[in-house]
Amino acid sequence: MSDPAPPIVLTIAGSDPSGGAGVQADLRAIAVHGHVGAAVITAHTVQNTLGVTHVAPVDARLVASQLAAVFADLPVAAIKIGMLGDAEVAAAVASALSGVRVPVVLDPVLRASSGAELLTAEALRVVRDDLAPLATLVTPNLAEARALLEDEPDAAALSARLGVPVLLTGGHVAGDVVTDVLDFPGEDRQVTLSAPRIPTPHDHGTGCLVSTSIACALAVGSSVIEAVEHGRACVRHGLASARKLGQGRGPVLLLDLPPGVARRA
Ligand code: PLP
Repeated sequence: MSDPAPPIVLTIAGSDPSGGAGVQADLRAIAVHGHVGAAVITAHTVQNTLGVTHVAPVDARLVASQLAAVFADLPVAAIKIGMLGDAEVAAAVASALSGVRVPVVLDPVLRASSGAELLTAEALRVVRDDLAPLATLVTPNLAEARALLEDEPDAAALSARLGVPVLLTGGHVAGDVVTDVLDFPGEDRQVTLSAPRIPTPHDHGTGCLVSTSIACALAVGSSVIEAVEHGRACVRHGLASARKLGQGRGPVLLLDLPPGVARRA
């Protein structure tokens, strides 16, 4: 008998033609895990390691029909959602996911580190009200949490507001130690995860990598806490391999799994 098929992880995200973030980075991370990557592109960006100069959301009807085609045929094991671009695309994704019963990791991408807006204000409302409640885990950084809460970023307040677990990532906060906070709504349970910072200027795409690696672990049955610990290990390993690729800020590079982590099918 032939080997069972590897798990399929679907990324719904923007395209970064320089390969450091978005769909390109997600598919690379999914392949490193030994899974099969399916991908629906929500928006095209014009960018390189120096920054983003243009964003063009894909027609929401095309996004909807690509998602329908994938779900009609493939046994998707987990989904990662990244950049959505505009409200129509965000609404199409929310509608396509409403009947889907697999783990969903939502990275609520708002803007590039270089400053370019990757999500409109109207789309933010759709993400908060329609999409986030469908997620297994939402993984904002501080700026994204502030925008979703319309208040000071706080993991417990955000998980209570969204009604789903939240991993508030702290990589953008200066300091020698990076602290992420995982909060579960309606439970007296919060996990603080800290580790020494891995110093590198080449950290483009860390949000994409942590959310995709978490989705890869959820696809093979890990708990949310186990998957978050795995995602953090992948980012740390990727930061240790990050290199200057172009003239600007290079990407975090996950080229193999962290030491001691085996592929799981
Ligand atoms: N471009 C795309 C397509 C993305 O999905 C993202 C982040 O998720 C970015 C750019 C921004 O990456 P960074 O904040 O590392 O610049």
